[in-house]
Amino acid sequence: MIYLDNAATTRAFDGAAQIASRTMAENYANPAGVYRFAVETDRAVETARGNLARALGAQASEIIYTSGATEANNLAVFGIANANRGRRRRFITTQVEHASIYETFRALDALGQEVLFLGVNADGTVRLDQLASVLSENTALVSIMHVNNEVGAINDLHRIASIVARYAPRAVFHSDGVQAFAKVPFEPIPAQIYSLSGHKFNGPKGVGALMIRNGVRIGKGLLGGAQERGIRSGTLNTPGILGMDAAIRHYYENGSAIRAKLMDCKRRLWARISSEVGDVYINGPDINQGAAHILNVSFRGVLGEVLLHSLEEYDICVSTGSACSQKRNQANNRVLEALGLPAERARSAIRISLGAYNEVSEMDAVASAIAESVKKLRTMGRR
Ligand code: PLP
Repeated sequence: MIYLDNAATTRAFDGAAQIASRTMAENYANPAGVYRFAVETDRAVETARGNLARALGAQASEIIYTSGATEANNLAVFGIANANRGRRRRFITTQVEHASIYETFRALDALGQEVLFLGVNADGTVRLDQLASVLSENTALVSIMHVNNEVGAINDLHRIASIVARYAPRAVFHSDGVQAFAKVPFEPIPAQIYSLSGHKFNGPKGVGALMIRNGVRIGKGLLGGAQERGIRSGTLNTPGILGMDAAIRHYYENGSAIRAKLMDCKRRLWARISSEVGDVYINGPDINQGAAHILNVSFRGVLGEVLLHSLEEYDICVSTGSACSQKRNQANNRVLEALGLPAERARSAIRISLGAYNEVSEMDAVASAIAESVKKLRTMGRR
């Protein structure tokens, strides 16, 4: 099988799976305990927290572990809304966010807050002119994703942070970093709040984190035993946290080589596809601009969903967009339409997303399978 749906989820690194398994079987103490067995687990968790903080340019005290990015994003948005309870404030996001941000903003709208969805440029990056024009003293939150999960557009968080600081100094800037963390080089994150998810970078599923800068006022998420500074109660998912830590450490050591390989894969694939198949278009940023792991393309006259199933015959897994929206049959239309693409091109889109286990040598077989499938489907369509 050639697995090319790494934006949906990834195979865990062996080291991550092993440490998660060992933590369940051997090192299983609740880190909140006070005997030595528990203190050892707590120490391992705090070392992991320090490693994650270092990757984000944060303090260990600024990391809250969660069950993944859907929870982290909900906590960020509702947490800031709760900290502003009783006032009608402005909440700004974009039209191309993952559902876990988009739907929470729609919920805030239904609760009577002022909610704005910014447009994007043709490459999928947020329109900074629009952002500057809607920021105000009354803005509570700006949430703009780091890398778009459908087309791989990379937003410039430094520019966004400086625009927010200039025009809305009291606003909190959150970024959904799920498709960026470990996929772009580690560097200090200029946002005040940042979300990530372990299973997107070869860690376990069901674990993620929210970085919340010290001093940011945020309401509590889950209530209970007051773990995670009382912001997110619940027994810590130690197998997940320590498995995710192993993946982070792997990217620390091998991240630049992995990213270079992903870029080589993406370029090779596009070079072959674009030379073998006519009428094919990249949706989103130019081949050399976007994130190394995402290539979204449309083949004129071929439905993305039909092509996806044709590639299954070759044992190749791709997607037509975000896993959650695919099942609800909305495809990725909201995002691709926001880029200004006609509905027909959006329906033709497939997302090819690469991961650490892909090799450049696989790309020729993928391109040939795509070329054969597209040719066959176009011929059938003409009959
Ligand atoms: N944000 C983005 C950009 C994503 O791609 C995803 C997953 O598809 C999520 C959030 C949700 O992450 P999780 O699966 O950890 O809930």
